[in-house]
Amino acid sequence: MRLVLVGPPGAGKGTQAEFLSSHYSIPHISTGDIFRANLKEGTVLGLEAKSFMDSGNLVPDSVTNEMVRDRLTKDDVSNGFLLDGFPRNVMQAEVLRAILAEKKAPLDAVLELSVDSAEIILRLSGRRICRNCGKAWHVEYEKPAVLNTCDACGGELYQREDDKEEVIKHRLDVYQEQTAPIVSFYRTEGLLITIPASGSVADITERAITALNRVH
Ligand code: AMP
Repeated sequence: MRLVLVGPPGAGKGTQAEFLSSHYSIPHISTGDIFRANLKEGTVLGLEAKSFMDSGNLVPDSVTNEMVRDRLTKDDVSNGFLLDGFPRNVMQAEVLRAILAEKKAPLDAVLELSVDSAEIILRLSGRRICRNCGKAWHVEYEKPAVLNTCDACGGELYQREDDKEEVIKHRLDVYQEQTAPIVSFYRTEGLLITIPASGSVADITERAITALNRVH
């Protein structure tokens, strides 16, 4: 299964990606997670990405495309992969198509998670992330047992710079202007599947698997 997950920030791509990658036994490749890991380790790539990420803008294509190209050469993608957060504009979608055409391994499907903007702002402004394991919590919808502490690993929770309210609005604008056009791109390619992404995490996962089973 070679799959792309697309949807606005806060649609729950990361959460669904965890479940789907384990269901299909394919690696979850999140460009946002790769950038954050590089930032934490203080690599050149991390430093290059930081200012774009903190302000809610896209990291330049030259940097992002090479990072993904390199990731897709690893052995673990031979049975498929789930890309989360890439592509984020039409240029990246074209680069991905070219990389996969070279490997004679085209995409099977693009799953769009659809949620309205008001709900996204509520989800993202309350989101807190574990500094240690990266798990996402929510100050109201998914509270840990101990304030600001991850139940899974005991790590400290923090608010992503780009989850602050003024940056969220900008990220939604960036999504509409730059990322939403890839939805039409993939519709034209006959790859797009759209599911509503409101409700419980388990219901959304079930919806996703039912829809994907129809194409795979
Ligand atoms: P995410 O965790 O997917 O919300 O990504 C966090 C941030 O990483 C984004 O707001 C961008 O600054 C950067 N980023 C992640 N994926 C991409 C991409 N495909 N192209 C450009 N920037 C990206």
